Amino acid sequence: MRFNLFKKYRGLKYGISEKRDGSMKLSAGSPKVSANRRRFFIKRGIPIGLLVTPLQTHSSRVFNYGADRTEGVIISADGLISKLRNVVLTVSVADCFPVYFFDPKTATVGLAHCGWRGIEKKLPAKVASRITANQSDLLVGIGPGIQSCHFEVQSDLLEKFSDYPEAILKRGHKSFIDLSKIIRSQLLALGLKPENIENFGECTYCQKDKYFSFRRDKPVVTRTVVAYIGLGL
Ligand SMILES: [Zn+2]
Repeated sequence: MRFNLFKKYRGLKYGISEKRDGSMKLSAGSPKVSANRRRFFIKRGIPIGLLVTPLQTHSSRVFNYGADRTEGVIISADGLISKLRNVVLTVSVADCFPVYFFDPKTATVGLAHCGWRGIEKKLPAKVASRITANQSDLLVGIGPGIQSCHFEVQSDLLEKFSDYPEAILKRGHKSFIDLSKIIRSQLLALGLKPENIENFGECTYCQKDKYFSFRRDKPVVTRTVVAYIGLGL
């Protein structure tokens, strides 16, 4: 996965694992996942000790790594930002969108785990505004996630997102929501430039050999891929 917007920044490392790399969802007593993560990151020249891995709860909490005080050892957040170099922010996803942020002006990176719950709470905009008060240079890449081809919804979600008619699609009697479009709308409303938001566009449900999909697989134990971004590596 590559974003054209990030191309010229050589110190910026970012990406996402694929299904063949194995599940990346950290949970208690899962040595296999730890081994998958180690193998994936070492291949990319990233020591596992540099990873920042939050406990994700579909919240809109944004943690500034290196600035906010940690409460104990576990960071509970769905958005991460950092101005530190040699730190790699990670989130794990299976249908939710990983959203990557880079502000060249302040050399700040950010990453958000955006499912509909986080998007409803405007998590992407919250991450953006924690990074900088001036949004004109901020670059955002929206990674793979469940696209409107497969995100069928019922009336409860249609109601929650009724402020975004441009993102609601009807096919026959069924309704679908384009979550990446809502992420984009929220960022534009905050003041980001349209040309500074890039959407990768792949659907995690459609691409069954490449991604885990919670909706498609209905797993007993959730399996995820890992998204990451860091600077100065
Ligand atoms: Zn699809």
